[in-house]
Amino acid sequence: MNNKRITIAIDGHSSCGKSTMAKALAKRIGYAYIDTGAMYRAVTLYCLEHDMIKGDEVNKPRLRRHMPKIEITFKVNNEGKSETWLNGKNVEQEIRGMEVSSKVSLIAAIGFVRRAMVAQQQVMGKEKGIVMDGRDIGTVVFPDAELKFFVTASAQVRAERRFKELQAKGDTTTTLEQVLANVEERDRIDSTRKESPLRQAPDALLLDNSNLTIEQQNEWLYNEFLKRVKQQ
Ligand code: C5P
Repeated sequence: MNNKRITIAIDGHSSCGKSTMAKALAKRIGYAYIDTGAMYRAVTLYCLEHDMIKGDEVNKPRLRRHMPKIEITFKVNNEGKSETWLNGKNVEQEIRGMEVSSKVSLIAAIGFVRRAMVAQQQVMGKEKGIVMDGRDIGTVVFPDAELKFFVTASAQVRAERRFKELQAKGDTTTTLEQVLANVEERDRIDSTRKESPLRQAPDALLLDNSNLTIEQQNEWLYNEFLKRVKQQ
C-alpha cells in the first residue's frame, strides 16, 4: 500500500455514530483520532461550572475573558482509549451527559469559541495521518483533506442509539423523547448557525447509515480509504 499519510474528515449530524466509525478506522490504519465534539463539550462544561449559562443565554464577554484559561487535552488511558481532560481533570464521563449535551450547540455557535478550537485542531492535524470528526472538518478545519465523509441517519434512529448508550451508562432518568428532542434541536442549531453551519462539503462522500450495522459501515469506510490511498 502507498505509505503517504492523508487527512480524513468525518462530518455529519449528531449521534450518527461518527466517532465510533472514526475511532475504528483510525485504529485499523494506524492513524490518530481526534474527537472535536469533545472539545466543544469541554468548553461547555467549563461554562456550566463557572455559571456562565442562564437558560439559552451565554455570558459571552465573561467567556471570552476566560478562553485563554481553558486548556483541553486528550490522553490515552490504560485501556488504550483517548479521554478528554479539562484543565488537568479527566472530564470524559461528564461531557457526555445530558446537561452538557443540552447546552453544547449554544457554545459551539459562538465565533470566538470556534476560532480558538479550529486553530487547535489545525495544529493537532498538521502532520496528517489523522481521522478527525466533527461538523466543520471538511469545510473549515481541513478544506483540503484528501478524504471527506458526511454521515447521517434518521433522527429517530439516532435518538434510539444515543438513548441505549445513556441507559448502558446507568442514566435511568432521561427518556427517549428527551433524547429525540435534543438530537433535533442540535441539528437545527448546528445547521442554521451563522458561524460554520453544518453542511456537506461538495467533495464529501455521503453515508446514510440508518440501515447499516457498525461492521458494514466500517468496511465501507475502510474500502473508501483504500481506494483513495491507491490514487495518491
Ligand atoms: O460530536 P458531538 O455530538 O459530541 O458534538 C457536540 C456538539 O458540538 C455538536 O452538537 C455541535 O454543536 C458541536 N460541534 C461543532 N463543531 C465540531 C464538533 C462539534 O459545532 N467540529
